[in-house]
Amino acid sequence: MRLLLHACCAPCLIMPHRLLRDEGHEVTVLWYNPNIHPFDEYMKRRRALEVYAERERIPVIYIDEYWMEDWIRKAVAYMERGLPRRRFCYLQRLTRTAREARERGFEAFSTTLLLSKHQDHELVVEAAEIASKMFEIPFLYRDWRPYEEEGLREAKRLSLYRQKYCGCVFSMDERGMALYHKRLYSF
Ligand code: SF4
Repeated sequence: MRLLLHACCAPCLIMPHRLLRDEGHEVTVLWYNPNIHPFDEYMKRRRALEVYAERERIPVIYIDEYWMEDWIRKAVAYMERGLPRRRFCYLQRLTRTAREARERGFEAFSTTLLLSKHQDHELVVEAAEIASKMFEIPFLYRDWRPYEEEGLREAKRLSLYRQKYCGCVFSMDERGMALYHKRLYSF
């Protein structure tokens, strides 16, 4: 099947791509992660993906939209309504993926967000199903969580850049505070 796979970073792409390829799918990757903070971090992750995709000859569509202020405003409005910011984050990335998949003639879409045990798996699935209905294109579900460690080992072996926090400004701050409380923060 011609599949558009949203990828959040290179380390998370390795195993889903291998497994999908082994299933016989024709995979194109979509880079669309407009809330990675700061921009320097965005570029490091994008570059790592580029390096890995070139190495493995994976076609990639890059959508370089980066709108930090707008994202923060919308995420805060979301949280003020008592909704988890992650829901907004997943919906944003996956509705765009579904839209691109539909407009570019793919048969289905999926996301590497299904790999990480740090993500809210059920919320990712819910967002993908909403996106699937909105743009009338199938969402290919796979639970890749058992392969996360293997993917990280492989990323290390290939010396790919590995990020230290999920991505947005809030997750960056949360990591900083966690390190501070564990007295591991270095000034
Ligand atoms: S922590 Fe990660 S999943 Fe949650 S809103 Fe930020 S970037 Fe999105």
